[in-house]
Amino acid sequence: MNDHRKLGRELGLFDTDPLIGAGLPYWLPDGAVVRHALEEYIRTAERKAGYRHVYSPVLGKRELYEISGHWSHYSDDMFPPMELGGEQVVLRPSLCPHHAVIYRSRSHSYRELPLRMAELGGMYRSELSGVLGGLTRVRAIQLNDAHIFCTLDQVAEEAQAALEMIRRAYEALGISPARYRLSLPGPGGKYVAAPELWQRSTALLTEVLERSGLPYEAVEGEAAFYGPKIDVQVVDGAGRESTLSTVQVDFHQPERFDLHYIGADGAKHRPVMVHRSIIGSVERAVAHLIEEHGGAFPAWLAPTQVVILPVSAAELPNAVALAERCAHRGLRAEIAEPERGSLGARIREARLVPYQAVIGAKEAADDLVAVRLRDGRRLDPLPVGEVLGRIGALVGSHRTDLWDGAPR
Ligand SMILES: [Zn+2]
Repeated sequence: MNDHRKLGRELGLFDTDPLIGAGLPYWLPDGAVVRHALEEYIRTAERKAGYRHVYSPVLGKRELYEISGHWSHYSDDMFPPMELGGEQVVLRPSLCPHHAVIYRSRSHSYRELPLRMAELGGMYRSELSGVLGGLTRVRAIQLNDAHIFCTLDQVAEEAQAALEMIRRAYEALGISPARYRLSLPGPGGKYVAAPELWQRSTALLTEVLERSGLPYEAVEGEAAFYGPKIDVQVVDGAGRESTLSTVQVDFHQPERFDLHYIGADGAKHRPVMVHRSIIGSVERAVAHLIEEHGGAFPAWLAPTQVVILPVSAAELPNAVALAERCAHRGLRAEIAEPERGSLGARIREARLVPYQAVIGAKEAADDLVAVRLRDGRRLDPLPVGEVLGRIGALVGSHRTDLWDGAPR
């Protein structure tokens, strides 16, 4: 079983320090590379799907969360407020209230809808130290979040498009959902009132799931306090299930923040808010990726994509030239020098690197490179330009297979 806490430390991806605090991991350079690649994938996918990105502060006045309902329904999970100039300021437990206020800051016509607002932003949760460990239960969270402000007629299509973005992301990440869950309110939970709104949003999400043809289970007691949601569940190495992605339909926040748009009739109308996250928190997503792949990430995510192995010191200049060509193409390459051990030992050390580029005397003389793939396949020597072109194309299209076609 792969435990991301152990592997994350062994691979130099992240760590924690008691002086910084429990549940507050820091990212080492190789982990930061993985996270950066993941965030860039998400931002690009969102831009292509018509989302516009914003930045909003990680703090807000207590009043903001009183309006959103977090203060009365969610304060157990929030950090205590800080007193500042006679006001109380809190670390935000979610991005939604900020986005609602950003929407409200400008007037909107029905022609602008659906308005898709996205942010990869920080949020905070006052997890108890007893449940902290690794990247799955943290106090500082980087959330991949977005809010779609739309008309009632547009909700189903937007929710379905979000599910399709999730499907494509999972394909690129090489992970698969364990199940889709329709998360409904349960008895005794802290939920906002308005039964008719709950019924409407539940009916909409059910319709989306039915139309997508996805197998799902309805589970009571897992809804957000303000509405039901579709959760995409994954299972970790120890068999524990958790939520990675979510799509929610919310009639509550638009009421609370008095959001509106001007309709074709010139009158004010209330938009619906669709909350959606493709990969959830970056921390949880990377934890899952580490466990799922045992550190052997898809090439586009790998901290080092190409390890260059000169057989002897004579080929070092060729290795340096190849590393430069990789860097020029945006590929992350590293040289494993001959003094670090035998070729076999260096290949074993680089077993998680997708592409192992061996340069011997013959390859050096002809500007060739003999590539070994992480999965054990060995390719015949190929011209350097061809190898880099093919790796670049596979990485650029976020493919999970390491090579096009059979080795020659
Ligand atoms: Zn939200």
